[in-house]
Amino acid sequence: MNNSSISVVGAGIFGLWQAYMLVRAGHRVRLIEESSTPFAQASSRWAGAMIAPECEAEGAPIIVRDLGREALRIWREGYPGTVDNGTLVVAHGRDAGDLARFASMTEGHVAVDASRIRELEPALAGRFERGLYFAGESHLDARKALGWLLDEFRTLGGEVLLGTKWDERTDGVIIDCRGIGAQADLASLRGVRGERVLIQTRDISFSRPVRLLHPRQPIYVVPQGGGRFVVGASVVEREDDGPMTLKSALDLLGSAYALHPSFGEASVLEMGAGVRPAFPDNVPRIVVESGGRVIRVNGAYRHGFLLAPVMAREVQRYLSDGRREGLLFSRP
Ligand SMILES: Cc1cc2nc3c(=O)[nH]c(=O)nc-3n(C[C@H](O)[C@H](O)[C@H](O)COP(=O)(O)OP(=O)(O)OC[C@H]3O[C@@H](n4cnc5c(N)ncnc54)[C@H](O)[C@@H]3O)c2cc1C
Repeated sequence: MNNSSISVVGAGIFGLWQAYMLVRAGHRVRLIEESSTPFAQASSRWAGAMIAPECEAEGAPIIVRDLGREALRIWREGYPGTVDNGTLVVAHGRDAGDLARFASMTEGHVAVDASRIRELEPALAGRFERGLYFAGESHLDARKALGWLLDEFRTLGGEVLLGTKWDERTDGVIIDCRGIGAQADLASLRGVRGERVLIQTRDISFSRPVRLLHPRQPIYVVPQGGGRFVVGASVVEREDDGPMTLKSALDLLGSAYALHPSFGEASVLEMGAGVRPAFPDNVPRIVVESGGRVIRVNGAYRHGFLLAPVMAREVQRYLSDGRREGLLFSRP
């Protein structure tokens, strides 16, 4: 048991994985969260929660894929709600070029034809001639995963302070996981708005996330159980988590309808937006300040769920041996 006191600030996906991993390793940990209701202010509540290192390589630096592969293993070992059914990527015939491009930018996929698409997702029978199947990817229900991490943290003896704004005078080591809330202390951090819709229908079911490629509005549809699907997500260079715009709703829902007309009868349960914290290269960082007393973990961008366990592991290693190896440690 390590008795040094550690405060983790921010109960989003970065803070929760950090707090959970450290308390599991025997540290005395306090989790400080500004909102009184868990996750109410966290951008993490809006995530599609695809753990998709291969697909994300299409638009992300290669370090995200490589660390994401490691993180996926930690999710699978640690979180019982991880669903390991892979990802299916499809495109309409006129967008075949997008599919070819996606294939050339990624690894870990096999090309699938109409009959294999039908086997994987019977609901899509006859709708797509070609696709890509990434068998080694996972997904989860974001809010269930956040709740599970918080419950486990408490069960293992972690202290949770909700409705508490972080005070700089806090004693001991501070791990700052405030997301966009840390902007004043991380000069190059920006916010990137992401909108998503939660719909529900019993008329159609998927076993895995389905990504529909499109030159203007690509979407993903992530099954969440109970006939619920997350349809996401916009990427807007704006720091605004206000209600979804009409245009984004039209784009996302129009693409869902193009994926399958049965979505036309779905109930819209919730629409909303979160602000993804990002550094200029869209790669997260660990920034060590004040002689190691303050450790800032931020810049999750589109990969907070994907990368959270690996960020937490790197910080844990730093706390145990003081080594700052790898590209994640820097001063942005
Ligand atoms: C629509 C959408 C879809 C996404 N889909 C995916 C996906 O499929 N896969 C994936 O990997 N990622 C996805 N992401 C990205 C992911 O959600 C973010 O990268 C991640 O949520 C960022 O987590 P965080 O813990 O850094 O910040 P947050 O979740 O924002 O948490 C920060 C917390 O700090 C608290 N806080 C702030 N200031 C203070 C203070 N002074 N004192 C105490 N507490 C404070 C806040 O209240 C908040 O709870 C998506 C994001 C969006 C918006």
